[in-house]
Amino acid sequence: MKIFCGRANPTTGSMEWLEEGEDYDYHQEIARSRYADMLHDKDRNVKYYQGIRAAVSRVKERGEKAIVLDIGTGTGLLSMMAASAGADFCYAIEVFKPMANAAVKIVEKNGFSDKIKVINKHSTEVTVGPDGDMQCRANILVTELFDTELIGEGALPTYEHAHKYLVQEGCEAVPHRATVYVQLVESRRMWSWKKLFPVHVEAEDGEKILVPPSEMENCPGVPSVCDIQLNQMPSSDFSTLSDVVTMFSVDFSKPVQSASTYYRVQLEPVKSGKAQIVLSWWDIDMDPSGMINCTMAPYWVKPTSALQWRDHWMQCVYFLPREEPVLQGEKLYLTACRDEYSVWYSLQKAREGGKNAGEEENKADVCVESPVCRCRAHLLWNRPRFGELNDQNRTRQYIKSLRKVLKTDSVCLCISDGSLLPVLAHYLGAKQVQCMQPTRIDLSHPHELQQAFFKANHLEDKIKIIEARPELLKPSHLEDKKISVLVGEPFFTTSLLPWHNLYFWYARTAVSPHLASNVTVLPQSASLHMMIVEFQDLWRIRSPCGTCEGFDVQTMDDMIKDSLNFRESKEAEPHPLWEYPCKSLSDPQEVLTFDFTQTVPQHCLSTEGSVKLLRKGKSHGAVLWMEYHLAADISVSTGLMQLSDEQGNCEWNPHCKQAVYFFSSVIESEIQSDPTAVTYAINFDTKTGEITMDFKL
Ligand code: SAH
Repeated sequence: MKIFCGRANPTTGSMEWLEEGEDYDYHQEIARSRYADMLHDKDRNVKYYQGIRAAVSRVKERGEKAIVLDIGTGTGLLSMMAASAGADFCYAIEVFKPMANAAVKIVEKNGFSDKIKVINKHSTEVTVGPDGDMQCRANILVTELFDTELIGEGALPTYEHAHKYLVQEGCEAVPHRATVYVQLVESRRMWSWKKLFPVHVEAEDGEKILVPPSEMENCPGVPSVCDIQLNQMPSSDFSTLSDVVTMFSVDFSKPVQSASTYYRVQLEPVKSGKAQIVLSWWDIDMDPSGMINCTMAPYWVKPTSALQWRDHWMQCVYFLPREEPVLQGEKLYLTACRDEYSVWYSLQKAREGGKNAGEEENKADVCVESPVCRCRAHLLWNRPRFGELNDQNRTRQYIKSLRKVLKTDSVCLCISDGSLLPVLAHYLGAKQVQCMQPTRIDLSHPHELQQAFFKANHLEDKIKIIEARPELLKPSHLEDKKISVLVGEPFFTTSLLPWHNLYFWYARTAVSPHLASNVTVLPQSASLHMMIVEFQDLWRIRSPCGTCEGFDVQTMDDMIKDSLNFRESKEAEPHPLWEYPCKSLSDPQEVLTFDFTQTVPQHCLSTEGSVKLLRKGKSHGAVLWMEYHLAADISVSTGLMQLSDEQGNCEWNPHCKQAVYFFSSVIESEIQSDPTAVTYAINFDTKTGEITMDFKL
């Protein structure tokens, strides 16, 4: 079987479909999966074990045999817990073949083969009866099918089916119940992930205000969940407008309905403000008494929560369809709508009037439709990109540099996806402005958003969109003029790793024949920076587990390691480091520079060297990021923003993902003594646009 994997080519900016072997997908799945992170989640594991023991005891006390159904067994962990707790038999269901195979091996290695039957099927395909997969229905239902949004991985339909066909009435469920909590907040920072704020520009002829198109104002956005490590959001970045409220709960020991529905709670703001965001998280009670509770509550709700780090379950940020001013003490209704897989929220004001008038009237405006982006912006810009475009500090740097380079006779071409730069260039006095969004050309309606933008600001006749790839640019596109100022943020939606935005350099090379001899390129250059760090927690996702609650899960460790080394060349991975604290162990170092005033060279750019380690700590890996030098003395960093000297605490650009290269020898504790330096070899292959690297400790 052949698998085609889509990947953007950083030298052309367009998507390419590469044929991969059958193994590829599965290695990607395993390598990037959260299995290791789950096995490291001590709090989760301990509580599951307690819950399972309690459930087995209750069944035994009733004088029944304990027959367990474990849906989504993964490594087989929960089934092994059940077998150890005295269960008579476990049916361990796993749909993902490589995992089911691993579960068979792990179960065997731990000596549970006679008690646990691994079934490689989706639970809805499992049959019950004398000739079926299961001899009889189970009386204990164990699962861990939850994502940050609780239901996003299909827990509800799976439970619904299991109660109908696979378990007995009155079965014990571990977890017994899940509860979803919400809190209404105002947060300019989080709201800036959904909405574009007006941009103020001081131009020669007075202040100009760049406004978003009206369709954007009331656009509900997209239904995909925004899950973040809320514990990294400082309390100064939001203001809570309500207490924490229970939104809904699901009892897993009873029949579960997955059909779309809604839940509504009454709220009284504890403070007046602008309701913008609903923060949400859940907890699970492993037993009916609620004594064994595993919670995702953030630090201001549960001060010890930062101590229990996990990445497979975080917290959710939901954006209300529109900002709503609310008054302290007024009566509000918050509605959560859900379908089988996702949740969305809306807020209604209780109206004055007769008994229940508000309730009745408001039922009508309960949203049943899941949010659908009408303005296209939410389809083209992801949440961090909204945040970046709304970053006034960053915009100021671009304005300052544009002001330095633009003249009244400037002919300006902007190459970036969905950028505000063409408008800024026009306001700042460029004579002729045109723009290109080369990586969007593959899509239908690639320029609609940009057009709507220009229209909203009455610039549709002033800024021209060139619907051609850079290599197909013709003099007629430029009204037979040469480009005197070439600008880019650069930002391209197809970029995964920081250096993929170097596509700007390739585009710049392609348009070379159209550049004036004294052209100014903004940014004039870029540089790749690197720093060695010790992560507070992120290292766990790549760290072997060995044993988990006394069970040998090394088979899983080996499998993950194999998948990570699948191509024999380890790769850097993108991570948004503002969510994953780390400490610098070395100074940041500039390792490569890319001169945009010149074309991309034919030869590779490579460098070797050594970084001194200045602080004690575990060298978990190297972080790499790009900095763009816009004009003399003006640079923007997509990585490190600030470094506090004493502890080496780092502040990262909150809108960008940085590249992380993990040092497996340190994470796997093969190296005992702390090294004093790390040597590196980094190569930028100008043919592929990719960077490969190698480190020695
Ligand atoms: N139970 C393990 C693994 C949980 S991850 C543990 O707690 O450590 C969830 C697993 O469930 C994944 O391996 C996924 O492939 C599997 N899965 C999800 N829904 C399923 C379903 N309906 N039937 C079978 N397997 C399922």
